[in-house]
Amino acid sequence: MGLMLDRVGSGRSPQGAAGLADLEREVTRDLDRLNYPPRAWPVPKPAPDGSTALDALVVGGGMYGQTMAFALYREGIRNLRVIDLAREGEEGPWGTYARMDILRSPKRQCGPDLGVPSLTFRAWHEAQGRSWDELYKIHRLDWLAYLLWLRRVLDLPVENGTRLLALEPAGGLLRAEIEGPRGRESVFCRNVVLATGREGAGGRQVPAFPSFSMARGDRHPRIHHSADPIDFGPLQGRRVAILGANASALDNAGTALEAGAAAAVMFCRRPALPQVNKSRWMVFPGFQHGFPAMDDAARWEFMSHVASVQMPPPHESVLRCTRHAGFDLRFAEPWTDVIADGDEIDIVTAKGRHRFDAVIFATGFNVDLADVPYLTSLLPQIETWGARVAPQDAARFPALARLPYLTADFQLTAKAGAHAPEVENLYLLSFGASLSHGALAGDLPAVRATTTRAAQAIARALFVTDYQAYRQSMRRFSEAELEPTPYFVPPEDIAP
Ligand SMILES: Cc1cc2nc3c(=O)[nH]c(=O)nc-3n(C[C@H](O)[C@H](O)[C@H](O)COP(=O)(O)OP(=O)(O)OC[C@H]3O[C@@H](n4cnc5c(N)ncnc54)[C@H](O)[C@@H]3O)c2cc1C
Repeated sequence: MGLMLDRVGSGRSPQGAAGLADLEREVTRDLDRLNYPPRAWPVPKPAPDGSTALDALVVGGGMYGQTMAFALYREGIRNLRVIDLAREGEEGPWGTYARMDILRSPKRQCGPDLGVPSLTFRAWHEAQGRSWDELYKIHRLDWLAYLLWLRRVLDLPVENGTRLLALEPAGGLLRAEIEGPRGRESVFCRNVVLATGREGAGGRQVPAFPSFSMARGDRHPRIHHSADPIDFGPLQGRRVAILGANASALDNAGTALEAGAAAAVMFCRRPALPQVNKSRWMVFPGFQHGFPAMDDAARWEFMSHVASVQMPPPHESVLRCTRHAGFDLRFAEPWTDVIADGDEIDIVTAKGRHRFDAVIFATGFNVDLADVPYLTSLLPQIETWGARVAPQDAARFPALARLPYLTADFQLTAKAGAHAPEVENLYLLSFGASLSHGALAGDLPAVRATTTRAAQAIARALFVTDYQAYRQSMRRFSEAELEPTPYFVPPEDIAP
């Protein structure tokens, strides 16, 4: 799995490159008109090791992390670092394990631009001489190229190859242990933003079977999770079994068939595909701003309904598969065992035993902070939804009950009686926020509302915490407004 920008890159043609250069000049003008970046104002905070604490550490340099950095810059918060364990261009799914051709979302999505017209995807697309009207939906590699372009023109400081290892409270600050090209270091932070994506909020969901369990550590060269790098070339003429019926299952089936697989057979428990994407309904400002203000009972009722109806795969992904004779989708046929037998793999179901050459678990991701290694020391202090609802409700929807309970500004919440106020300096911008903020959290349509709100909350907290310093600064403030006029009076002549 390498960097895929060579396949669909930004400004590759001379016309595209010239168009982007023009657009970049327009971006510079726009940002200048918006007085971006504003003056940096936060008061420096000394850390216990003699350094100055970061105002924010943003963990994850994908779509949410880089937009969060932009949102913080817009609030004049510049003492920050953004780290991502991936190499540049491999952040998030777009150029790595996402195997759809196009984004699910309609092309009219704004977000990472934070409302600046010249920073929109449409501006980027048209600047390269491409027609907007003729575009059906955004190609995923174009989306990746666009995000990387934004990062460059906004000069967002993503440190690649750098991983967060541990977080612990440190007397009102958070101490982050990180490891990157410079080695291992301890960084003291006033706020930490976790923008670690689907996989970063709990890891992969992998089923366990009597004869094969990834969770137990079993490995096989042709048994994969859909988020693995998979070389589809050798699957030509082979039979591939896929567990799951979500978008990723279909995109992996489609990729296998397009690579020449003889068969791609999907198996799922359910008797039919979910039919309605309720998340699509949620894309409007009233929902994004209003849902977190609803009480716990209303949010639980709303989201448990959404969880019950589940989400269909995009119809484009289905049609991509059904045009191949080798495609099959078997409903109501869960697997009971996976048995590696030499070069082949047997899938056992209640309906029979089937032979395949490769297996892909398209079983998605878990959201469970208990499985996030860097949260181990804070975990006992973090409130989850399970503590906010009746035990029988939590038992009915255990995956929802495990989700963290966030404030309206995306902060984690400390459990009642916990002695770790630092928990509330942690912001979670990912699918883990979906019960507190609605199913959109972590997806493209919510990126602007989410990052703007979290950045403003950080600005507020920085100000409120250091209020006495700002108050004194206001007293010292002595810009002589009337100096050029005849009515100027020197400060020493003014009676106290
Ligand atoms: C296959 C797929 C297709 C999707 N298609 C769409 C779509 O069409 N439309 C839509 O709206 N949404 C879609 N989504 C959902 C969502 O928009 C994407 O997942 C999007 O990438 C979320 O952005 P993010 O910044 O939250 O996470 P990511 O893009 O996943 O970025 C998170 C980053 O955090 C880094 N990271 C994780 N842990 C650490 C650590 N400990 N230290 C340092 N860095 C760390 C990772 O390396 C990663 O780069 C899709 C998701 C998937 C998985």
